[in-house]
Order: sequence, then structure tokens, then C-alpha cells
Amino acid sequence: MSAGWFRRRFLPGGPLPAPGPPGPRARPGPRASPVPYRRPRFLRGSGSAADASRRPDARPVRSPAQGRSLPWNAGYAEIINAEKSEFNEDQAACGKLCIRRHEFGAEEDHEWQVLCPEEFLTGHYWALFDGHGGPAAAILAANTLHSCLRRRLEAVVEGVVAAQPPMHLSSRCVCPSDPQFVEEKGIRAEDVVIGALESAFEECDEVIGRELEASGQAGGCTALVAVSLQGKLYVANAGDSRAILVRQDEVRPLSSEFTPETERRRIQQLAFTYPELLAGEFTRLEFPRRLRGDDLGQQVLFRDYHMSGWSYKRVEKSDLKYPLIHGQGRQARLLGTLAVSRGLGDHQLRVLDTDIQLKPFLLPVPQVTVLEVDQLDLQEEDVIVMATDGLWDVLSNEQVARLVRSFLLGNREDPHRFSELAKMLIHSTQGVEGGPTGLMSYDDVSVFVIPLHGQGQGHSGH
Ligand code: MG
Repeated sequence: MSAGWFRRRFLPGGPLPAPGPPGPRARPGPRASPVPYRRPRFLRGSGSAADASRRPDARPVRSPAQGRSLPWNAGYAEIINAEKSEFNEDQAACGKLCIRRHEFGAEEDHEWQVLCPEEFLTGHYWALFDGHGGPAAAILAANTLHSCLRRRLEAVVEGVVAAQPPMHLSSRCVCPSDPQFVEEKGIRAEDVVIGALESAFEECDEVIGRELEASGQAGGCTALVAVSLQGKLYVANAGDSRAILVRQDEVRPLSSEFTPETERRRIQQLAFTYPELLAGEFTRLEFPRRLRGDDLGQQVLFRDYHMSGWSYKRVEKSDLKYPLIHGQGRQARLLGTLAVSRGLGDHQLRVLDTDIQLKPFLLPVPQVTVLEVDQLDLQEEDVIVMATDGLWDVLSNEQVARLVRSFLLGNREDPHRFSELAKMLIHSTQGVEGGPTGLMSYDDVSVFVIPLHGQGQGHSGH
């Protein structure tokens, strides 16, 4: 992947807005063209996407053409679902993050000035997006999120490279520095990177909202991002994709899924604080099953936002409304509509036949996990596996770890082994006889395998 790839800003509606406060949602002028369907750029030359979507029975596994290497020699593979839709709703992106040094200009012009036009800090980026309601939001996220992140990191790069982030960033600021307050709060350089990731997700969400509205499209996507910077690997997750660290004697989750069930308390609390969001159509209380008319007056189990345990209450008429969170496991839905509680897009999404919006309950903010790669005693077979939920629906973390270990130990000499491993993991979701589970994933599946050995050193880049 060339460094230039990240410097190009592609969006069907024109260039991305400059960093700064988000502009108004509605964009005047003629309707923008719909977001064109495509596969990740790094899959070019690996076979026809059109063939793949027209031959659902064949379900070919696609991966980058040999000779096209991804950052850190990472492996990638994907497969389209058999019957769910014509297009693959998963998208992926990866590349080098070239971070330059910027500073605020004079206060009156509010412009950014490039202090150092050369690259100041180098990172790497891998991302998976799992779309719903069409592929458009996932495509926009794959085109956009890395640019948002690069700009957010450039805006705070002084704080990222310092041993302790300064209280004030601009050298023009005449305020005295207050390192004791930064120290008292325990603020570290990695916290500034985490903040940049959180802001980048929010900015990308705004861009997707504007672009989809302008082109008359809808939809959303989950986002799972891994960023290597200065010897650390940051994993940011908003949705139900998953990343794990696999080592010889360890399997460590690097993300956790955000679903209506895992975020029950936050969602219920939002409805408690702003009951008008439910427009009198839903009950925020959780019951073991949906209540019926003949439950009225009975004592039933329930729980509210402040409870992890259960209690009993006498059923009133308002408890018979549709539950804010309904269903179990994979069937759990937020407002009867959505299976995830964090993700990008879905600005237009409303509960069927109502004006109730999903958006305040659906958050674009990721949870970020930091892996201190440079502190690990890394072995050649130590990898990160990132995949969309189609993989994790049929394989557990431990099953994936067993497949990873046995494959890598048996293919030590193969220079393409991480790519082959990604393909093998996808094949393992296709109901292979004698496979780890024999189960078949009917979802799109996308996998990155990121080797860690030899990558923790030489990270400073400035
Ligand atoms: Mg999926």
C-alpha cells in the first residue's frame, strides 16, 4: 500500500471538509451521486467482485493478489454471504498513517499551518466495517475514517510524542504550563491518541450523515480499527466485530461487542433521563419476556437501568408496551430495529411507522483498548486476528486461536502464510466437514491477520 493512498481524499460528493467544527447537516445544491459499490482497493487484481456477487453458490474467498503486500505483511481475506444480499456489506481499509506536524495559526484566521511538511510520525492502520441497510455507510467509512484520524492526530501530535502531554498545545499560548495538573490526572500520551480515535469516529459519523443525506441514501455500519503508533497498538471498536491477540500460551480479547444486551444499562438510563425519546411507544424496563394483557396485576421479574440483579413489580398497563430492548443473544434488538448499539451512520433510521430515532441510543463513540506491543516478548507466531461478526458467529476465540497456532507452526517457511491463514479462517466458517465446528456462517465474513513479531521496535518515526 503506497503512502499516497491515504493522502488522497475520495468522496463521491467532493473533498472532505477541513478539520474544525462540523458544518450543517443539510447541504444545499443538487443531490449528490449515490455512493458507488466497490471492494477494498487492495483487492484489485484478485478477481472480479461482480463474479463473486453473481455466483452466490460458489462463494469465492477473495484476498489481495500475491505480490501486493499489506502493512506489516498482514493477511486479509473475505467472503460474500450466500443469499443475504447481492453485495458484500463488509468493507475494509488499511495503510500507512503519515502524520505531519501542524499548529494553530493566528487566532484571527483560525487556520491550520503545516509546520513540518515532511512526515513527522508514522503509524499503520487496519479497519473493518460491517454495513447494514446497504453497503453505502461502510464504503464511506472505509474511504473516510483514516483521513479523520490522521487530521485528529496531526492536531495533537505534540501531546502524542511528549512523555507527558502538555496542558497547553499551542506555542503561541502565553499561559504558564501546568504539568502538575496533567500528572495529578494521570494523563498519558496514549490518552491523547485514544481521544483522537474517539474524535475521528465522531467526525466520520458526521461525514457519513451528510453524504448519505445529500445522496438520498441510508444505512449504517460497525467499525473496528487497529492503529499502531509508537510501539503501541490501539484497537477501537464500535459495534460487534472483534479483535483478539493470539500467542502461544495466551488468547486475549482486545475489544468487546456493543449490542443492546451488553449496553442495556446505558440505553435504559438514556430513556430514563429523556423519556420523550420513546414517544410513549416503548417501555424502558426489561422483563424476562414480553408481557401480555393477562399479566396485568401480576408480580413479575424486571430490572431497570440501575440494576444488575432482578426484582419484582406489579404489572401496570404501561409495562405492556414494546420493550426498548427485546430478544436474546443474536436476536436482541434495540427499539425492535437494530442488533448493535454502537456504529457509524443511521442518522435517518427510525422505528418503523414512527418518528422515533435510533440515533441517540446508537453511539458512534468507540471503546479503545491499548496493547503495549513493545513490552511483549514477541514470538514469530504472535498475531492479532480482527474479523467481522460472521466469523465469531461460528468460531470462538479459543477455536480461532487453535487454528492460528497449528497453521502458523505448520507453515513457517511460507512468506504468504498470514494471507493463507486469513483464507483458512474464512474457509472454516463455511461448514467444512471435519472443520472446527462444521457450522456455516450465512453472513459476510472479513478477516485481517496482523503479525506482531519485529514490529514493536523502530517505531519513533520522527
Ligand atoms: Mg456481519
